[in-house]
Amino acid sequence: SDSPCRIEVQPIIDSTNSELMRRIQTNVDDLNSGHVLVAEMQQAGRGRRGRQWQSPFGANLYYSYYWHFEEGMQAAMGVSVAVGLAVYDALKALYELDVQLKWPNDIYISEHKLAGVLVELDGQMEGPCHLVIGIGLNVAMPNTAAQYIDQAWTDLSQHIADIDKNQLVVVLTLCLQKRLHMYQKNGLSEMVEQWNELNAFRDQAVSLSTGQRQWRGICEGIDHQGGLILRQDGECKTYYGGELSLRKE
Ligand code: ATP
Repeated sequence: SDSPCRIEVQPIIDSTNSELMRRIQTNVDDLNSGHVLVAEMQQAGRGRRGRQWQSPFGANLYYSYYWHFEEGMQAAMGVSVAVGLAVYDALKALYELDVQLKWPNDIYISEHKLAGVLVELDGQMEGPCHLVIGIGLNVAMPNTAAQYIDQAWTDLSQHIADIDKNQLVVVLTLCLQKRLHMYQKNGLSEMVEQWNELNAFRDQAVSLSTGQRQWRGICEGIDHQGGLILRQDGECKTYYGGELSLRKE
């Protein structure tokens, strides 16, 4: 995560994550850690489990960062937690804005979704792997697209004036590199406490579901692997995995 970064801008793309994943398959030798791909619009922006990320042309940010990760897939599990903190850092540094984090990968402002993180991996369980870190951040959502978002959302323009998107991309990249470096050195250990302070559902009754199964409990925060801790009848259980959906009860 220490290599110099290169920021590439494309006007229109299917998905910035998909494009970097394709390059990993076809010409990974041309990719260096820290390569950033930003698009003005995505035709097939993705969330988790094949859900759509609304990505109209305009001021929003559609951002992906490539990272050659030496530690292997298992250790990559907590990355989206570190990335959430990087988004927090950037918005705090630039605008004094306070966001909350929702496990495992979303950024909220008072219960409205501002940004989503999608970390994708290519590699084996053991040995180095390729990571693509996608961040979709709403800056100024056009009305035409807003109607397709089926949950409470927000964008930066509702909270601050005069947003310089170029500056945002650069500061976000620097914050990301700092958090990834921290993660590479010590995992989440230095980050758990801060993440838990920013937990959007801290001490609240929540449900966690896979679609098939559902668990209820009080949201205690995350552990050192990035798993979610729920307190159920006085007992704490930790849940792992990127396919879980968290909701307030
Ligand atoms: P949850 O399970 O809590 O809904 P998620 O992490 O699974 O969240 P993602 O898959 O990351 O959600 O994102 C897709 C969802 O986010 C969509 O189903 C939609 O509700 C919402 N969404 C889509 N585009 C945007 C956007 N630009 N801004 C905010 N929310 C969006």
